[in-house]
Amino acid sequence: MKIIKFGGSSVANPENIRKVFAILQDKLKQHEIAIVFSAFGGVTESLLTIARLAREGDQAYRDLLQTLEEKHLDIVRQLIAVQNQSTVMTYVKVRFKELEDLFHGIFLIKENSSRTLDYVASFGERLSAFILAEAMAGKGIKTQFVDARDVIRTNDRFGQARVDYEVTNALIKDYFLKNDGVKVITGFIASTAKGETTTLGRSGSDYTAAIFAGALEAQDLEIWTDVSGVLTSDPKMVYTAFTIPQLSYNEAMELSHFGAKVIFPATMQPAMKKNIPIYIKNTFEPENPGTLINGEVSHGALIKGISSMSNISIVTVQGAGLIEGGATVSRVFRALAEAKVNIVLISQASSEHSICLAIKTHEAFLAKESIEKEFFYEIKSGEMDEVSLLHGLATIAVVGENMKQNPGASGRMFRALGRNNVNVAAIAQGSSELNISAVIPQPDLQKALNALHEAFFLSENKVLHVFLVGTGLIGQALMKMIASQQNKLLKDNELDVQIHGLANSRFMAFHEDGFELKPAYQLSDKDEPMDLEKFIQKMEEMNFSNSVFVDCTASQDVADAYSRVLEAKVAIVTPNKRANSGSMDQYRALKRIAKRRGVKFLYETNVAAGLPVINTLQDLMLSGDKVIRIEAVLSGSMNFIFSELENGAPFSEVVKIAKDKGYTEPDPRDDLSGMDVARKILILGREAEQVLEFDDITIQSMVPADCQHAATVPEFFEKLSGHDGDFAKLLRKAGENGERLRFMATLEDGKAKVGLKSLPESHPFSSLKGSDNMILLTTDRYHDRPMIIRGPGAGADVTAAGVFADVIRIGNYTRE
Ligand code: ADP
Ligand code: ASP
Ligand code: MG
Repeated sequence: MKIIKFGGSSVANPENIRKVFAILQDKLKQHEIAIVFSAFGGVTESLLTIARLAREGDQAYRDLLQTLEEKHLDIVRQLIAVQNQSTVMTYVKVRFKELEDLFHGIFLIKENSSRTLDYVASFGERLSAFILAEAMAGKGIKTQFVDARDVIRTNDRFGQARVDYEVTNALIKDYFLKNDGVKVITGFIASTAKGETTTLGRSGSDYTAAIFAGALEAQDLEIWTDVSGVLTSDPKMVYTAFTIPQLSYNEAMELSHFGAKVIFPATMQPAMKKNIPIYIKNTFEPENPGTLINGEVSHGALIKGISSMSNISIVTVQGAGLIEGGATVSRVFRALAEAKVNIVLISQASSEHSICLAIKTHEAFLAKESIEKEFFYEIKSGEMDEVSLLHGLATIAVVGENMKQNPGASGRMFRALGRNNVNVAAIAQGSSELNISAVIPQPDLQKALNALHEAFFLSENKVLHVFLVGTGLIGQALMKMIASQQNKLLKDNELDVQIHGLANSRFMAFHEDGFELKPAYQLSDKDEPMDLEKFIQKMEEMNFSNSVFVDCTASQDVADAYSRVLEAKVAIVTPNKRANSGSMDQYRALKRIAKRRGVKFLYETNVAAGLPVINTLQDLMLSGDKVIRIEAVLSGSMNFIFSELENGAPFSEVVKIAKDKGYTEPDPRDDLSGMDVARKILILGREAEQVLEFDDITIQSMVPADCQHAATVPEFFEKLSGHDGDFAKLLRKAGENGERLRFMATLEDGKAKVGLKSLPESHPFSSLKGSDNMILLTTDRYHDRPMIIRGPGAGADVTAAGVFADVIRIGNYTRE
């Protein structure tokens, strides 16, 4: 004998029911079976809603009841041939007449007890199983409708009744002996010895099927639903969840107890007792093997699955006087048991000074009341505080038998939560070491589930969620790079880089699943107007694990927002020098926040584009080296100008060429003033652990005084040509001495200088060509000959490559 159960979604409409029938036809050919049906999808919920409306005196209940009747009649019409319809139609109509009277009663007396609600809910399964039994009979299958109230005996805990197995097993066996035909059984419902209708708890049809399987010692139990088995996590919350091929009874029980709705926790009891295997199968993908639940503990993965429960509150019982009293815990439990409140999770300080209970929010107030009643005198005397409630929480649990032998599960769990800025309000580990659970803020639930899923199951695939501000040359180049490398990174580095937010100075846009990058998304006036504050808020709301804010602007406003971004536990990567070249206090504050929040703030491209300058300096400092001197040519545009001057063209013309080629800022004075180089040496100095402010730097500007005040760029050029002679003279003089002019920055003895220098031919800078940068680091270790870093130090591509490398570094860092 096989027991086969179909859930509400499998029988939600005629189309689905036809799929169910196809599966059943197949089974009937090979096995002796008995079938358990849930109510048609959504029906239980509707019945309970109608009862609530009626109790609240809301006339709308009548329309809903009518719709529900129509739904059932429609299924009858579609599944049963006209000539066979009359018995079923009558059955349905009589049931709805009963319901109408029942709801009218509720409407009048405005009361609906759990006893009444169980009776109301029972109609769902009675209707579905009866209709389906008749529909199968119409296909020539000899069926026998079984109202499970006749055979499943329970206590009178309405809404969550306990089964009396002794009586039930005997009744079921007897029934099967005395009745022929394929039994078509109502799930979910039962009755007390007095004949009152009870239910086994929401989603309890799985349990009904297991009760029958146990009583009849079935060969196996199949539970058909709308997913392919028990998955590593709820697929509605974690899109990458996948089917777990096998679970032990205990693992399945634990996963479902902590919220995996796919199987009702009590289902495992009867099956486990008789060692009956349970298969969870997908009605909509019958060929998928689904999940097998049996008595075996399979070795391998550290955990099997992650489940969660929403709408949780924490009830805290505490007070200094509780320590001496003893027995606090047992009194709390007794009070809650009497009030029929379920405890989801308990965590207790060893002193009994404080006990923290996670409870479903709708029961939390009752819990508080009943505990306060129990401790009335202790509270009055001040030995105990009033019971406090904290709402808006969820529980999350990782489950697997292998945790017993293998340490590391809790470390991995809390590291993943911590890294993703999920606050943990309480922690508990089941004494069986089968699960570790935590209470977290409800709004963080989906992020937490995904972070844990990634940490335990997909650690080989790390998703990086990028929010890019600035879509100029560098931003565009970066997007192209991400697009072209995306597949390779996924394949070779298990890194999935996705852009979820994009903004320029005018517009911003977001994409939950990541923007298409081939071709790159172009912002336009169809998008929202850019608002930095909103951009950050949205980034926080999207609440992804492993988020990176990439600032490819040169904006002070964006830099000013870094501390907020880091506080939100979002990493930052940027070529924008503004933040690090502000005050020393600000520079330190950002480092401090990043450290405290455990996120990275990377800015290799602040100096010399993609050349490895900042990382190198940081590595030297970390390994205990000391910087004696830094000499550097840090401006690609200035270098271009000086190497061109040597070809004989006048200064003003060379500057013009540099501007036309895009080597300078739109106003070349920004480069010629030396300010940009000063910012860079300031940052290098700080990385070399010097305390430096911008005002400490001696800057020799290359802009003559009159040119500085020119109102427009053309006027500037006009004035500059008046100085061509002076520059030619400087150049000639250098030439006579066998020297070259270079615009360089130095840092020595805590002093930074920026300006024009005449250098001997033999100096490494003299050989610099085009827009190359060069940095000489003289340190305790690199003492006799400095370390030299040289290469193209400007340009969108090399800068974007450096930014990209920093983003990847963050991906690698967040990996365990
Ligand atoms: P049925 O109507 O067949 O009884 P349920 O809605 O009770 O189906 O259970 C199936 C649903 O359980 C799935 O659609 C899924 O959203 C949810 N679910 C929660 N956790 C899990 C999990 N770990 N694996 C599979 N499904 C899960
Ligand atoms: N119909 C019941 C419910 O919705 C039982 C079940 O579907 O398992 O809770
Ligand atoms: Mg279910």
